[in-house]
Amino acid sequence: MRCPLCNSLEDKVLESRQNSAGTSIRRRRECLSCSYRFTSYERVEEKPVMIVKKDGRREQFRMEKLERGILRALEKRPVSQTTVEDMLHRIEDTVEMQGRFTREIPSKELGDLVLQEMYRVDKVAAIRFASVYKAFETEDEFIQEIESLTLAKDSSGTSR
Ligand SMILES: [Zn+2]
Repeated sequence: MRCPLCNSLEDKVLESRQNSAGTSIRRRRECLSCSYRFTSYERVEEKPVMIVKKDGRREQFRMEKLERGILRALEKRPVSQTTVEDMLHRIEDTVEMQGRFTREIPSKELGDLVLQEMYRVDKVAAIRFASVYKAFETEDEFIQEIESLTLAKDSSGTSR
């Protein structure tokens, strides 16, 4: 598979994991020329899950794209590769589960899901992610979201 960094076609697979629905396999790869690590996805061809935005527009859910955003937020954070892989896996599984029948997931729901997972793994990364994530269109909304995550830990129930 072509290395996104140096275009070399020689790589080795570090890890392969299948999602729980059995519909996709993600492989962690390492380029043999430049050691860059990247992920490839192999999927059963089926109707993709669509993200429904606030204004009703739909965009195909792409784990690759989400993963890039997540990894960017985690840059230089003290989080192990394994923890990140596990989190990405849980997110992918949840999206697949929630979109099982309708093949749709509202962008807000997706944002909440990712934010909750990230908040558990690394609070700083969660805040970084939230601040760039498109679903949070206003600052107020973003602050409310962080507050609701903080409150959720005290098991005081959700306000929504
Ligand atoms: Zn390379």
